[in-house]
Amino acid sequence: MREALRVRGLKVTPQRLAILEELVGDPTHPTAADLFERLRPRLPSMSFATVYNTLAVLTEQGLCVATSLVAGAVRFDPNVEPHDHAVCDGCGLVVDVILERGAPREAAPKQRPVSGFAVRVVERIYRGLCVGCAASQELAADAE
Ligand SMILES: [Zn+2]
Ligand SMILES: [Zn+2]
Repeated sequence: MREALRVRGLKVTPQRLAILEELVGDPTHPTAADLFERLRPRLPSMSFATVYNTLAVLTEQGLCVATSLVAGAVRFDPNVEPHDHAVCDGCGLVVDVILERGAPREAAPKQRPVSGFAVRVVERIYRGLCVGCAASQELAADAE
């Protein structure tokens, strides 16, 4: 992690390191506010602006990706390879869709030309309910 920062010529500060570590260990695509709340107990002197600016720097350096899959705050994704996401209609949870290893991505839709548009990457979004939301919907249905 330290190395990832250093290689890019970024100063390694405890705050940057903590933000990056927290993000990399998190599959939920947190917002800047999520990370700030989570790190506050450990780094009480860190401001929200620091978190926000650090995420901007990490994004610029290709260490994470900023996505706006869900309306509202931008979420940060430590997985910088093109990949698909599943988004919960209920709570907005965002998780990576992991393809079975070796499974070919379906015929690269990338090759389908889009008129008047230069396609950089094609990512799919699966919408539905996460386990938690699906369970609470069932509970609600049972109660009727
Ligand atoms: Zn949910
Ligand atoms: Zn992701």
